[in-house]
Amino acid sequence: MRTVMSFLLLFPLAWLALVAGTLLWYRRGLMALWREPVLDQPVLIIESDDWGAGPVESQTQALNRLVDLLTRFRDCDGRPPVMTLALVLAGPDGPAIRREGHYRCRTLEDPVFAPLRAAIERGRRAGVFALQLHGMEHYWPPALMASPDPSVRAWLESDSLPATERLPAHLQSRWTDASVLPSRPLSDEAIAAAVREEVALFERLFGERPRVAVPPTFVWDARVEAAWARAGVEVVVTPGLRSRCRNAAGLPDCDSGPIVNGQSGPGVRYVVRDAYFEPERGHRAAQGLAALRRKWAQRRPCLLETHRSNFIGEAATAEQALAALGELIEQALHLYPELRFLDTATLASIYLSPGRAATGFSTRFAAWRARVRELRGFMRCAKLAGLAWLFNPRLTPAGGQAVHPA
Ligand SMILES: [Zn+2]
Repeated sequence: MRTVMSFLLLFPLAWLALVAGTLLWYRRGLMALWREPVLDQPVLIIESDDWGAGPVESQTQALNRLVDLLTRFRDCDGRPPVMTLALVLAGPDGPAIRREGHYRCRTLEDPVFAPLRAAIERGRRAGVFALQLHGMEHYWPPALMASPDPSVRAWLESDSLPATERLPAHLQSRWTDASVLPSRPLSDEAIAAAVREEVALFERLFGERPRVAVPPTFVWDARVEAAWARAGVEVVVTPGLRSRCRNAAGLPDCDSGPIVNGQSGPGVRYVVRDAYFEPERGHRAAQGLAALRRKWAQRRPCLLETHRSNFIGEAATAEQALAALGELIEQALHLYPELRFLDTATLASIYLSPGRAATGFSTRFAAWRARVRELRGFMRCAKLAGLAWLFNPRLTPAGGQAVHPA
């Protein structure tokens, strides 16, 4: 009898300990998700990377076609869809490197890039392009020069304007020295000088300082953010964490996070981009719409990551990518008549303006539950503790499904 009584007493105590332990272990993440602002209208931003240095003709043609496509649509406020262009401002000057034996670059100031700059300006004037800083180069020049890989040397010394997509992935990171793996951190002085140089060139090229920075390959550290902030950058785009290095296998590592929308870093605000729209990898309108549905259930903006490579490659692939993008925007407007098109800097300013987001408790609670479902590892523990039912998507009318990451 005493054994039965002890069991009856111990069982609820053990369960309570499990629940308390789970909540305690995840308290920071759960609180951060609760504090993350809640949007009152769905937001869609197409975030595209890697434009600038590289092949001129194919990029110019692609950008002009994107302007033609995007200007066909308007949201409920009469605004056109915005594609952010994360710009790379320079690439290698192959003949000069061959001649002089040290690194030299060709920037977008070179007259050869005039048609590309004109296409960028055309989209900017039409309100469909918002310019963001990706980097002076999509690599750290001394790391490339130190690389023993002969294909890297050939890339650097090329007569053409080579595309960084052809470099080994780990060498496409700018803010770590990946000439050896695991990569080594850059010096404070090197970071400060490089940020000053890239921000000054961006301003000379486009007449204003960049407000938003997108770290190449999402490898960067707090010192880079602080230097960007000193140079006037207000917003850093993140996939929800910060990777500081490349590990022995060449993969992004040394992570810190999670990071949520509107969170502040050293002098900057973060905006999270962790959904993908890469038609060259098979994504179509359905994947983009699934991401929009999921983000709206979480009362978060839908920032869809895409790359120039979707639009500048083989004609048929580029055509398909454009068609998929048009279909996505058309269906998004049809399914969400209250949808808003914004640029990322404007979105960040909404996060800074109290009162511009929905604050009702039930909306906030539903959004929090939808967000918690994606908190890494939490749902496994919640299941063990018997709490999973609390986060069942069927209890959230607007619940969505996850998009497949690229
Ligand atoms: Zn990139």
